[in-house]
Amino acid sequence: MAAGTTFDLAIIGGGPAGTAAAIAAREGGLRVAIWDRQRFPHDKVCGEFLSGESLPMLQRLIPAALERGAPIARCEFISPRGRVDSFRLPQPARGLSRRSLDHALWRAAADVGAWTHEGTPVRRVSRLPPPGDRNPLWQVEPAGGEMVTAHSLLLACGRGWSIPGLNSSSLRMKQRVAAWTGLKAHFAGVATRDAVEMYYFPGGYCGLAPVESGLYNVCCLARPSLLKESAGSGGARDLARWLRRAVRHPALDARLKHAVQTSGTVATAPVSPARRTANLSGALVIGDAAGFIDPFTGDGISMALHSGRLGAEVLSRVRDDRLRLAGAHDPALEYRRRLRAAVNQSYCFAGFLRTLVCAPESLQAVAARFLPRFGPMLMERTRWRAA
Ligand SMILES: Cc1cc2nc3c(=O)[nH]c(=O)nc-3n(C[C@H](O)[C@H](O)[C@H](O)COP(=O)(O)OP(=O)(O)OC[C@H]3O[C@@H](n4cnc5c(N)ncnc54)[C@H](O)[C@@H]3O)c2cc1C
Repeated sequence: MAAGTTFDLAIIGGGPAGTAAAIAAREGGLRVAIWDRQRFPHDKVCGEFLSGESLPMLQRLIPAALERGAPIARCEFISPRGRVDSFRLPQPARGLSRRSLDHALWRAAADVGAWTHEGTPVRRVSRLPPPGDRNPLWQVEPAGGEMVTAHSLLLACGRGWSIPGLNSSSLRMKQRVAAWTGLKAHFAGVATRDAVEMYYFPGGYCGLAPVESGLYNVCCLARPSLLKESAGSGGARDLARWLRRAVRHPALDARLKHAVQTSGTVATAPVSPARRTANLSGALVIGDAAGFIDPFTGDGISMALHSGRLGAEVLSRVRDDRLRLAGAHDPALEYRRRLRAAVNQSYCFAGFLRTLVCAPESLQAVAARFLPRFGPMLMERTRWRAA
């Protein structure tokens, strides 16, 4: 596809949502342009747990990368005193670094013919002609690049974005909760187990998950107050040391005793779960940009992939409509309805579980005892429901 083409679809953001959408749209015959402000591969704060619900799609899109991921069959909850409550996951999962996952998805989008631009932030979008027109054109202005026009726009920029030209005031969070800070690093020297381990403590939790090449992902969500307390001690550059000093979880310290950090610590803030919006001035919103579910559910990537695919499928039908000049359906309405049906229950149960995550240690310990029995059911209730 050459510059100057009017694309069927422009996608801002090349994470799991944007790339899944790009691939689905190409499969639907659309001409697609996609931008990401980052270059691939890059590290990203994430627990890197790929839930069973994401695996069939990933198996189809990026089989070789997925194959390298570490198998995960169980979920364990570990109290500061070392009590372990665990259950077998309803479906096998995998651990794969975001470096590998996002890079493989980006390449897959390019391989199916999406016009990809990495290291290129989108600075502004405009709608032409003015709002009210049935089939507007979108003009996308990337930094340092030429303007591109497209019939449809998908916003896949992750949580907490804003792009000039789009009125993001309607993105006010509907479910504001106290924010966490997320920290992540990779470690070698951690004895491999086929479990995702959740070490809970007052003020947050820390997940351990095996990823490719025998490495471990250590990803912690903590209240900013914990970070402030340790600010004078070199911050969290040495993540295991920071966990020892700030979090004080003896069972976690024991698990990381021989661990060697192999990456820098990456951090993100604020991390606050929220429902946002499914469409903005006629653009469809997918992935975290549409809503950010609590990371402890381990289903954010799956939701991003599925919502991306859903958005692209809905828009592929618009093109058919446009060709037939029938104008048969409103894509924004259809997408919003199907997105809600797919995630409403998940947000509801995640909110309930969050109260346990934020509870005092004694209550957390009581709740954890019920997890072997109710864990699989709760997990199932926080998943994307096929629309
Ligand atoms: C601490 C933490 C732990 C998590 N752990 C897990 C887990 O273990 N399992 C799981 O399933 N989910 C987890 N999640 C959630 C998961 O990371 C997200 O749900 C997922 O990344 C959403 O994908 P996305 O494509 O919507 O957004 P993102 O992955 O955030 O991608 C958005 C992309 O848009 C790009 N972008 C933004 N603005 C612009 C712009 N103006 N121009 C161009 N590009 C732009 C960004 O560079 C980025 O690449 C976790 C999240 C956090 C914060």
